[in-house]
Amino acid sequence: MKTELCIIGAGPAGLTAAIFAAQQNAQVLLVERNTTAGRKLLKTGRGRCNLTHTGSIEEFVRAYGSCGRFLKPALYAFSPQQVREFFHSRNVPTQEEKDGCVFPVSSKASDICQCLLETARKLGVSFLYGRRAEHMAANHQRFEVRIDKETIISRAVILATGGASWPMTGSTGDGYRLAANFGHSIIAPKPALCPLVTEEKWPGCLQGVGIPHVRIRAAAEGRRWESEGPLMFTADGIGGPAVFDLSRHLTDILSPNEKPVPAHIDWLPDLDFQTLENRLLAEMTAHPKKEPAGILSAFLPRQLAQQMQSLLWGNEKVPASHISRSQRKDLLNLLKSCSLTIVKTAPIEQATITRGGVSRNEIDPSTMESRLRANLFFAGEVIDADGPCGGYNLQIAWSTGALAGLSAAQKNRQKWSC
Ligand SMILES: Cc1cc2nc3c(=O)[nH]c(=O)nc-3n(C[C@H](O)[C@H](O)[C@H](O)COP(=O)(O)OP(=O)(O)OC[C@H]3O[C@@H](n4cnc5c(N)ncnc54)[C@H](O)[C@@H]3O)c2cc1C
Repeated sequence: MKTELCIIGAGPAGLTAAIFAAQQNAQVLLVERNTTAGRKLLKTGRGRCNLTHTGSIEEFVRAYGSCGRFLKPALYAFSPQQVREFFHSRNVPTQEEKDGCVFPVSSKASDICQCLLETARKLGVSFLYGRRAEHMAANHQRFEVRIDKETIISRAVILATGGASWPMTGSTGDGYRLAANFGHSIIAPKPALCPLVTEEKWPGCLQGVGIPHVRIRAAAEGRRWESEGPLMFTADGIGGPAVFDLSRHLTDILSPNEKPVPAHIDWLPDLDFQTLENRLLAEMTAHPKKEPAGILSAFLPRQLAQQMQSLLWGNEKVPASHISRSQRKDLLNLLKSCSLTIVKTAPIEQATITRGGVSRNEIDPSTMESRLRANLFFAGEVIDADGPCGGYNLQIAWSTGALAGLSAAQKNRQKWSC
């Protein structure tokens, strides 16, 4: 089988690459190991698809941190605003929520996936489903992509195979192996945007309890991180958006060394120390017979309030009127800076994204083309680039997909038209 451009992986990055290349009249063949496209895309935002975020390109670059500079040209090629316009113009309007996250108005990830598929089909993209790219080699100016017993001959290839997280959706890290065959270095894939496991066992007793807004601080190896948002207790630690964003940074420290990282949680970040003390005192005065858990229930979910009492008083029964000044200070410290020890991240199978992947140093950020092998391009999570929660990771897929598709088509336009 022969094609001008072979794209491996029909996730958001591969579909976008196919559309942008086909718009330049390239002949595109999209190979997908699943029997349908966008299996992970359909899971995003709990089925609602948080497709991007509000903010300028510069704000995006800052949010990405160390990979922001690399992503900048891609963000200019297909910006967050252009992504929204793309879907709007195809009858899939989007809307932003208070926190800046952008979703389709229908709240259906399937509308986003369907829109991409229809657009690609209208542009003449060919799909090969249920076929896994197993091996890739270069032969003169052509690539040979082996799928089962067949070989696809292609002038250019875009690897859009995703990372290694949620492997049941098809992303099992194949792209790393295929890229390594061409000499690419792979930055060790690590779980990110995932729950964290704590040394303390008590969080596990609160599994399923959620707190709408906490602030977490962590420090290790001379660096400090802070994140805010909802927290959810898990079977062996903590999860939820505030924890997920922190995990993106801690994974680099936890994975290679498994060194524990101390973290401190402010359960009530909207109340400063003094205001909280005044409000606690008022509650204690109004309810002198109540135990600390009863007093704290005015501020925290009942189960967490009970846990805070157990941490300070064990099984002892203490009416509010007997709480000493120093005990009150201890309680305040526990509410504003509760210590936890993070020992590891959840496994990569449970992580929202993979941190690590094909080294950015070996990819030209202005085209997404390999610096080691001409006409080999990369798009999406297979690249060592990731962002925080809030639509930033799908934006990487849209932007790098668009730039890779555009570059592959433009670079080869003359050859293809011959
Ligand atoms: C539960 C969940 C919720 C998420 N929610 C959000 C969200 O709301 N917002 C956000 O920004 N991000 C979210 N993400 C992250 C986001 O889904 C990914 O960053 C994004 O899907 C990456 O796109 P991709 O195209 O690079 O990879 P993928 O979506 O993983 O697609 C890669 C495709 O390549 C195929 N493939 C792999 N190997 C081969 C092979 N050898 N041959 C053929 N095909 C192959 C796979 O089957 C797959 O279809 C979420 C992730 C998860 C797991």
